[in-house]
Amino acid sequence: MFIRSYLAIAVLFSVSPACNSQSSTTDTNSTQSSAMKADTTDKIIKTDEEWKAMLTPEQYEIARKKGTERAFTGEYWNHHEDGVYKCACCGMPLFNSDTKFESGSGWPSFYNEIGENVTEVRDASQGMIRTEILCMKCDAHLGHVFDDGPNPTGLRYCVNSASLKFEKR
Ligand SMILES: [Zn+2]
Repeated sequence: MFIRSYLAIAVLFSVSPACNSQSSTTDTNSTQSSAMKADTTDKIIKTDEEWKAMLTPEQYEIARKKGTERAFTGEYWNHHEDGVYKCACCGMPLFNSDTKFESGSGWPSFYNEIGENVTEVRDASQGMIRTEILCMKCDAHLGHVFDDGPNPTGLRYCVNSASLKFEKR
C-alpha cells in the first residue's frame, strides 16, 4: 500500500530514534529516556469510559487507542487559518499554525511543537521503528515525528487531525 511504503521510506532516513533537537548526542541505547523528561505532576488521567464519554468515536479510536486516520481525509491536513492547534482531549496547546507546512503526506504537518508540550516515545509497532508523539499532559496519541522536515528544525511532526482541536487567533 502506498501509505506504508511512504512511511517505510521516511523511516529509512530517520537514523536517530530520539529527538534531534535535543542537545545530548551519543547515547544511542537510551531510546526510552525522552519519555521521562516531562514533568508528570499535573497529568490528566481518565479511564477509557471517561474518555469515551467526552470524545467522538473517531477521536477516541485515534487519540486514546493509537489509531491513524486515512491520509487526505482529516479536518486539518489542508487547513490554513491562523491560530493554535490544541489537544482534542485536554486542550493543551501543541502546535502553532505558523509552523505548519505542506508535507504532501495528507496529514497536518508541523516543523515544531509549542514549548515542550509533546512527549516522544519509541514505537516499534507495524514492523517499523518510529518515534511516536503524545500530548505531554494527557498522553493522547498524536502521530509520529520524523527527521525529514524543513528548516529550521529539520523535523516533521505528522499529526492526526482527530487528535487536534483548532482555535482561531
Ligand atoms: Zn492532551
